[in-house]
Amino acid sequence: MTGRPGRTGTTSRSGGQAGAGDLLELVRSGRAVTRGALQRATGLSRATVGQRLDRLFRAGWLREGAGGPVDSPLGGRPAITLEFDDSHAVVLAADLDTRHARAAVLTLTGEVLAERAGTLVVEDGPEAVLGELGGWFAELLTKAGQPAAEVCGMGLAVPGPVDSGTGRVVQPPIMPGWDGYDITGRLSRAFTERTGAPAVPVLVDNDANLMALGEQRTGHPDCPAFVLVKVSTGIGAGVVVDGSVYRGLDGGAGDIGHIRVGADALCRCGSYGCLAAVASGGAVARRLAESGVPAASGSDVRDLLAAGHPEAAALAREAGRRVGDVLATVVTLLNPGVLMIAGDLAGTPFLTGVRELLYQRALPRSTARLDVVTSRLGERAALIGAGAMVVEHLYAPARAEERLAAMGV
Ligand SMILES: [Zn+2]
Repeated sequence: MTGRPGRTGTTSRSGGQAGAGDLLELVRSGRAVTRGALQRATGLSRATVGQRLDRLFRAGWLREGAGGPVDSPLGGRPAITLEFDDSHAVVLAADLDTRHARAAVLTLTGEVLAERAGTLVVEDGPEAVLGELGGWFAELLTKAGQPAAEVCGMGLAVPGPVDSGTGRVVQPPIMPGWDGYDITGRLSRAFTERTGAPAVPVLVDNDANLMALGEQRTGHPDCPAFVLVKVSTGIGAGVVVDGSVYRGLDGGAGDIGHIRVGADALCRCGSYGCLAAVASGGAVARRLAESGVPAASGSDVRDLLAAGHPEAAALAREAGRRVGDVLATVVTLLNPGVLMIAGDLAGTPFLTGVRELLYQRALPRSTARLDVVTSRLGERAALIGAGAMVVEHLYAPARAEERLAAMGV
């Protein structure tokens, strides 16, 4: 059992030779998808590439492409393309928010096979919430027609900072009772109790990190510096640099919601004047409620914005300006190619506010080629990211090699 996310750079090379795990990585990434291309990329002989590929075929991890042969760049016979066979296993993914959750059965390439969203209250504590989630997973597998034994791993997004070494949340401001709790152990137990299947690896990360991973992988795979800001009940940012989520020393990177912006509002973290206390969906809901508009949460604000409520739009734009001021610093530090705004407040008024302050306060050099966009995956972003985290962990070259050996192929 592990809470450690995959390191995509991990290699299985021993003595300089590429192993089956490295070949799988070359095919999955699209860098080499024929036997000839694999030979050229690795320097291995035709026979050795064939032996390595046979292991991957026996494991059911690789198949000959449905697209048929492609012309060989060297002439001669057309080459058979190879592709990752995503039908040999499925992933379970869940995204916990403060008052609701979303869970799904995903293919290894991120396709949703069955999905459920509903009320799950983080304040009820990890024992109850994760136990319930185990039940959701069992039902979703039935709905998807997938046996529990096919599950290769589970990925969970949580609304708090996660120590990637342990998979535990660290002093989460909006997750009372979860600090230091053994999330991976509890979810693993809930899954085996509900399904009778053997335990599988469980990986946990912060929701903004996984939203960033999901959006970067599906919509901006070539962007080397990608920033996503989630503005819902709280405010958090996820950063993907050179293809990997940047977590900082112990998972604290991107927690921009608690930067002090000089206001006097009390934040849920116990401090005064945090960005989240004045510019989150929760803060906007509070301002609306004070003026007599019924709103209690970020999702209420989202509904009001969707209905074109003028006061909600004005407050969202003001919140966008507050966040844009902080993002001017973020953009100057990281020089991203894409800045994506996601969460309950992500919409035209908020984005307008962000742009007003961002372009005013950041150096022109750091915004000249910057795309400021809204989420493409919407409410599924963290689920897709959680699935990608699990697959990239399990099929990273060194771990793939270990798993093949354990399977005896
Ligand atoms: Zn705070």
